[in-house]
Amino acid sequence: MLERPSPNHGARRDGTIVDILVLHYTGMADARSALDRLCDPSAEVSAHYLVEEDGVVWRLVPEDRRAWHAGVSSWAGEADVNSRSIGIELVNPGHGAAYRRFALPQMIALERLCHDILARHPIPAWRILGHSDVAPGRKRDPGELFDWKWLADRGVGLWPDPREDDAKVSIDIARWMRRFGYPDGARDSIAAFQRHFRPRSVTGVADDETRARLVALVKAAALA
Ligand SMILES: [Zn+2]
Repeated sequence: MLERPSPNHGARRDGTIVDILVLHYTGMADARSALDRLCDPSAEVSAHYLVEEDGVVWRLVPEDRRAWHAGVSSWAGEADVNSRSIGIELVNPGHGAAYRRFALPQMIALERLCHDILARHPIPAWRILGHSDVAPGRKRDPGELFDWKWLADRGVGLWPDPREDDAKVSIDIARWMRRFGYPDGARDSIAAFQRHFRPRSVTGVADDETRARLVALVKAAALA
């Protein structure tokens, strides 16, 4: 692991434990420009780690410090996501540019990094999230080309396949979305859910498959 200390961090709120992991993409042309920005005091943004497409990992902020990655966000009623999370930036140009799949060496390095982090903090599988999950409508990263299933298959995050009876459950979509952690069942939140858990079609509309996946997820997380 390489070190590139960023000045952009502060104290975590007293008494908080780290129980959320947030994945991002950099949305910049390359790793160098992203590292420069994440270490620029005037930018006032950072993350704990950055993972390059070739698998090189940079440490920017110590895990006991509050990095400035989530911005205006919330999860399960917690508005200070930065205080209780670790943030990882993945190099990718993002939706505004040449958004592309995340390279295998990058995914393998990320998987290893996540396992290390999970060994140090009590982060449940269902609180391994994308920036878009905690800031629906405002953020789209890491986006629908990020392979959450691949990561979950390797023990990082949750990816339940819905059972047939999950599709038959009649649900109040907003209530089940809130159970999982989203603020509501509005279009932006549904789109964020789909970007993460039903990436082949991000419509913002809670169709049958979306509902079934939400039910499966809430059940798998034992939040029902
Ligand atoms: Zn982000």
